[in-house]
Amino acid sequence: MSCDPLGSTYEITQPPPHEIPTEKRSKSDPGIAGFPGGAPHTGKQGQGDPEEARNFTHAERWKLKKAAAEILDEIPAGVKPFRVAVCHRTRGHGVEQVQLLQERGTNRVFYGGLMKCASVWVCPVCAAKITERRREELTRANASAHEKKLRVSMMTLTAPHRMGDDLEKLLQGIRDARRAMFNRKGWKRIREAAGIVGSICALEVTHGGNGWHVHVHELIYCEAGGAALDAEKLLPLWQSACTASGLGRPNVHGLKVGDGSKAAAYVAKFGAEDRDEDGWGVEHEMTKAHVKRGKKGGRSPWDLLRAYAYTGEERAAELFRVYAVGFRGRRQLVWSRGLRDLLGVRAKSDEELVEEEREEAEVVWSFDLSEWRWIIDRHLEGAVLQAGRERGKAGVYALLYPDG
Ligand SMILES: [Zn+2]
Repeated sequence: MSCDPLGSTYEITQPPPHEIPTEKRSKSDPGIAGFPGGAPHTGKQGQGDPEEARNFTHAERWKLKKAAAEILDEIPAGVKPFRVAVCHRTRGHGVEQVQLLQERGTNRVFYGGLMKCASVWVCPVCAAKITERRREELTRANASAHEKKLRVSMMTLTAPHRMGDDLEKLLQGIRDARRAMFNRKGWKRIREAAGIVGSICALEVTHGGNGWHVHVHELIYCEAGGAALDAEKLLPLWQSACTASGLGRPNVHGLKVGDGSKAAAYVAKFGAEDRDEDGWGVEHEMTKAHVKRGKKGGRSPWDLLRAYAYTGEERAAELFRVYAVGFRGRRQLVWSRGLRDLLGVRAKSDEELVEEEREEAEVVWSFDLSEWRWIIDRHLEGAVLQAGRERGKAGVYALLYPDG
């Protein structure tokens, strides 16, 4: 019997690992240049000096990537190895030299010529790029929807869960329940009344006091003038779909519909303002959920990496392994058929997005093999980026050749 922990999921008070003492970081960790003792943890990234915040995210990303590689070095027999350990370390096929590049006219720097794992789920470095591009796609989609006078709502679905639940079973259950719900006559009636023209589904997970908390965000596009989506009418459909799919029966927290008027106002602002890294809207929620810090006690996958990277927490490593295997091969965002065409957003794979270099870039540094080996042996990839961004060629030189 399920104790229906869903309602209480929102009440868990386990403190999030925001303030992790840096002295507890693993002994094998050489630290990050510029951040003695590891990257600083502030409650919220981006507050205060934005330059500092960017350095922080750069440095932390590489530190977490190293943690992911260490964690996924130990995987159950029979599981195909993850590529995050070799990602951004070896040269790409047919590439002569690894380079540090700088986008023309900005101080944005990045590496060229490296093999990339393109895993949005387990690689913090690849995920940063993929999720940013996916977020841009959603922004374009919503701007186009706005032009077409479509309304957009966000429906969030989740199911009861408890400590010890099998993650893969939960994922399968949610997937089956979602499909079952959309096949119900009741849904078809609601779809017609609301004038739904399509939706984009995003998958998200946290881990907290009640085990894995899987949920789905559904961005739903409706014709102007259609009936508003009503959570009270939708909930019974979701409840019966869950029980039919082997999940527990969700309570009132199992289905939420985001405020339509707020979503519309939000959509109206797309393109009208230059949002900084602090801006966290619908499209961030949809694409970067596994990156952000879990709220109300639940830990996001990146929180698990942080706990392992800064405190060596083995339990967090075990959970990350389970998550990595469970999410492998799943798509982060699924667009309903025809919606991309309707909104004029072309489909691109994660691999395409991670390899895409659309910036006009200048070479800051071309690394010879011994230089690159020296950097990756010391896990200084993040530090080199930071040095290149702050001081260009001279910064990279000073890091590589401290004795002149
Ligand atoms: Zn990667």
